[in-house]
Amino acid sequence: MVVFCPKCKPASAPCGRFDRKEKAVFVIGVAWACEKEFIGAPRKPEEPDAMNGLWTPQEMSRFQCFSANPLDRQAALRSKPGSMAAFANQEDVVFVLASGGHFVFQKISEKMTCFLSRSSLERFLPVSDEHIFLGLDDARNRRPVFAVQLMQNPETLMEAVFADPQYELIPLRQAAVQQRVSHEDFGVLAQANALLNWHYTHPRCARCGGDTKMAEGGYRRDCVACDAQHFPRTDPCVIMLIQNERGEALLGRPHNLPENLFTTLAGFVEPGETFEDAVRRETFEESGIRVGEVRYVASQPWPFPSNIMMGFHGKAITTQLNVDYEEMFDCRWFDRSEVEKMLSGTAETGLFCPPEISIAHQLIRLYVQGY
Ligand SMILES: [Zn+2]
Repeated sequence: MVVFCPKCKPASAPCGRFDRKEKAVFVIGVAWACEKEFIGAPRKPEEPDAMNGLWTPQEMSRFQCFSANPLDRQAALRSKPGSMAAFANQEDVVFVLASGGHFVFQKISEKMTCFLSRSSLERFLPVSDEHIFLGLDDARNRRPVFAVQLMQNPETLMEAVFADPQYELIPLRQAAVQQRVSHEDFGVLAQANALLNWHYTHPRCARCGGDTKMAEGGYRRDCVACDAQHFPRTDPCVIMLIQNERGEALLGRPHNLPENLFTTLAGFVEPGETFEDAVRRETFEESGIRVGEVRYVASQPWPFPSNIMMGFHGKAITTQLNVDYEEMFDCRWFDRSEVEKMLSGTAETGLFCPPEISIAHQLIRLYVQGY
């Protein structure tokens, strides 16, 4: 059996971080991980999960970027009078600061962090109790973590950041690709980015058009005119690797993706639709391929701005393509060896697959492994 590390290069092209005998641990029967090198890798089943003190199964979802989040969200305290202000005034409180999807990172002793102390935040704007409460950090002595967005004037934030070399303002997606902080910190940033974007785009009441104000620590907005309550939205998407009976994978390139990049098909779940039927409908609409059996693999929060990606593998029951060229630039069947080269960036054709931060990469990697 050929095994691959979800983090490193395939075992067939060792990168020095993969040691099947000593470091590898088995994950839900289909993949292996470098126990020491991959942050967020599975722990032994009998050990408590360090992320929340409880034992939880090591689901494949934990391996996705933006999926591991050590915060205890303390939902019950959000409505307790004074609790948010008390957390904001704690000495060890930290903040993530963003503007337009860019986050402020601070370099401390050659390491990058996305968590700013009170004094660091006050370099950019005053601390108030109107910030979004993300939770208590179980990985760091349960210190409170808040998210802050400088909406009024992003240029002001840029000027302040660029004036001090210990700070950088980096788009979240770029920071993830470059792995500027730990695997678990990106889970916090995903939570922050989705919430910050929701507040930024929902200043008005959808019912009456009146002004809304933040409530419940940032997990609700209340209309000041009609008292309607509005809650953060998460948009479900399906993303799927479809195989035909010859073992070939269906990959496509929507018009908005870079040239030569082929990835799994994907689309939004519609009202009144199961995830499985969304997989079948989206695949048929984009490629003309009918899908039978559908199997759930993993999920991934995708905070651009607020999607939850539900990853599936599915079996095609037809093979004749009928591509929707309005939506897709191209859509093709690829055999396993070709996909393996595309995934590792060694295809003679120059075609390649998405980077590791996306669940598409993991779905394709599992396919290459024979899943
Ligand atoms: Zn209203």
